[in-house]
Amino acid sequence: MCNYKPCVTLKAVDPRVAYQVAVAENGDNALPGGISIRAVAMHKQLWAGGRVLTIAFLGRPSEPLKEAVRVLIREWEPYVNLSFDFIEGNNADIKIQTNADQNGSLIGTDALTIKAGQPTMLIKAMPGDFDFRTVVLHEFGHALGLHHEHLHLDANIPWNKEKVYEEYATKYGMSKEEVDVNLLNPLSIDDILVGVYDTTSIMHYPVEKELTNGVFEVPMNTDISSEDKRVIQLLYPIAHSHYDGSCEHP
Ligand SMILES: [Zn+2]
Repeated sequence: MCNYKPCVTLKAVDPRVAYQVAVAENGDNALPGGISIRAVAMHKQLWAGGRVLTIAFLGRPSEPLKEAVRVLIREWEPYVNLSFDFIEGNNADIKIQTNADQNGSLIGTDALTIKAGQPTMLIKAMPGDFDFRTVVLHEFGHALGLHHEHLHLDANIPWNKEKVYEEYATKYGMSKEEVDVNLLNPLSIDDILVGVYDTTSIMHYPVEKELTNGVFEVPMNTDISSEDKRVIQLLYPIAHSHYDGSCEHP
């Protein structure tokens, strides 16, 4: 897999705060019965529909680098009823650190738990790298609230787990727990992922057949798949009529 650097999803420090900001942002993120103290159930982390999402770069990256990232992020924009506003300064909904030592992102509204000047998204890949396009599209998918596709309940990837632990520890320095969370443990709530399992998703890790039963493999996807587009449009539906919500009287 050359120098492919796996994405590690970043977690909000305090899951209760993450839940509160998610529900304040978009009431549809609420769990029935709220969040329990003992078991932190997964909740949705979707932005409010129609919102302007502000995006800033930390650390003053070069203009060509910023533009390369912006162009890719904008590939998501036609499929969501959000608009993306790239702003200057160190405070925004999404704060991108380029030249990072890993690729990663918080999921959706979890980014609101991060203070000004601290990144919500890490991008290690640089323009010209074979994985730059994949990484930026993938990380921004997380920023919109998407999870790892290979953790879909229907994925059933025939992993060779011992080899996975060994490979990811040796190549990427990932702990067993990080591998479990990012590769192996399916997400427990199936309404988080509203699509069908999709091996062409930009949110799917590449999977080498050396790490499975020797047959199953997934290449490094480089585009927002048609299922990704369908799912993100379901999550952020774009109104196609000018119906104003008022009652129609016969
Ligand atoms: Zn990821």
